[in-house]
Amino acid sequence: MMKKTFFVTTPIYYTNGIPHIWHSYSSLIADILFKYKKISGFDVKFCTWVDENSQKAVQKAEEENMPVWEYLDMMAEKHKKVWDWLGISYTDFIRTTEPRHHELVRKVLQKSFDNWDIYEWVYEWLYCVWCEAFKKDEDLIEKDWKKVCPDHLKEPDKIKEKNYFFKLSKYQDKILEFYEKNPDFVTPKERFNEVIAFVKRWLEDFSISRETNKFWIKLPFDESQVTYVWYDALFNYVTVCQNWDERFWPADLHVVWKDIIRFHAIYWPAMLMSVGYELPKQILTTGFFTIDWQKISKSLGNVIDPVEFCEKYSKDLLVLYLLSNFNIWQDWDFDQANAVLTYNAKLANNLWNLLNRATVLTMKLELQNGFENEKMDENILKNFEEYDKNFKIFFEKYELKAVLDSTFKFLDDLNLFVTETEPWKLMKQEENLEKAKNILYTICESLRQVWLNLYPFFPEKMSKLFETLWLQNYSLYLENGKLAELKAKKENFIIKEKPEILFEKFEI
Ligand SMILES: [Zn+2]
Repeated sequence: MMKKTFFVTTPIYYTNGIPHIWHSYSSLIADILFKYKKISGFDVKFCTWVDENSQKAVQKAEEENMPVWEYLDMMAEKHKKVWDWLGISYTDFIRTTEPRHHELVRKVLQKSFDNWDIYEWVYEWLYCVWCEAFKKDEDLIEKDWKKVCPDHLKEPDKIKEKNYFFKLSKYQDKILEFYEKNPDFVTPKERFNEVIAFVKRWLEDFSISRETNKFWIKLPFDESQVTYVWYDALFNYVTVCQNWDERFWPADLHVVWKDIIRFHAIYWPAMLMSVGYELPKQILTTGFFTIDWQKISKSLGNVIDPVEFCEKYSKDLLVLYLLSNFNIWQDWDFDQANAVLTYNAKLANNLWNLLNRATVLTMKLELQNGFENEKMDENILKNFEEYDKNFKIFFEKYELKAVLDSTFKFLDDLNLFVTETEPWKLMKQEENLEKAKNILYTICESLRQVWLNLYPFFPEKMSKLFETLWLQNYSLYLENGKLAELKAKKENFIIKEKPEILFEKFEI
């Protein structure tokens, strides 16, 4: 039987900077979803990339006094290094300058052109040389019967340029029809409603070419022009699915920032329809975050390097904070103190205390073959089954905050259960020994289940935790898609020694 496939992508990263914490956020989301599908037995693909066909990259190389190619190679390596360091397990890393991508883009450009969806037009730009920026009519103000730049009070230049345009307007009805048939195409709903309203109003054809040359992709039907930005960039998603990987298209999920949602939710479907490709299944939009309520920017000096941050604290702290404190689509503020508090409470206290109690007390029982006939406490079992069911639903809906919330809620309940039942007292009374054993078995089995569920978030730590309860080869089984088999397994928990501390507490 053919395995089910899952293909997830990160947003487009520009090559003129090194990924900072904001980029890590979207990559981590894609990575966790990828890992979850992988351990669940899916045939998986995960693509991340850099956009190199940009004017900015050329400028940046000039600033650094480097040949463009050398600069691009250097930056691509830097991007990969950050992702590798963070354990982002992408299967494909693509650069838009690669020949396989150029080939595909030229092929689709021609196809779209043959379908009458690309046309030539002499376009007039208004350009204020003092601002060094293009202006739209509505940007200008009136002065002495002339339309002038509001900042410089001078008339902008008119620049005439021949461009090729994509006939987006032609696809308005088809796009709306597609939205209707796919009510979950964009998450969250509010963002999707904005997109729908935008499409319903009016769609403007957009320019897909420029007269400049450099190394960009030449239009196959007019080699004096190159394609630029979105037409080129978006087709990356298809480029990585060529040859042996065709089974992965259409993509299951594009993770994008909200400022590029229009390109993904409107341009992209139309471009694909024009060349007869299937459309991606879903787009997950992340919100923005600020640092100390300020926009993240190099000039403000508040950029956080994810590698430095993780070296100072830990990768688990970053992942837990980014994904448990806010819903993916919310706007929010990054607060280091809050990150430390969250980690200390949830991982260093809540989870670690349970394991510590379970191992110390179980070792005192000196069970030769571990637990043999013990069963989960009925109430905890019921509680667990409810949690486990919801956990799956949340993951399928990509609601990672809810996934983590439900998990830590279950651990809270488990901690309370231990405190209330006091197994350390029961153990000392011969008549209550069986009761104590059942309680300890309940904790061990619950922890095992929780760790399996948390594996996509903290794979290294969970692998170490499995070892503390002598669970053999768990990571290996998980990496081979055996989550369901492991969850159904009956373990005896032969515990031989107290675990070393895996979650150190941090000071603020
Ligand atoms: Zn101006």
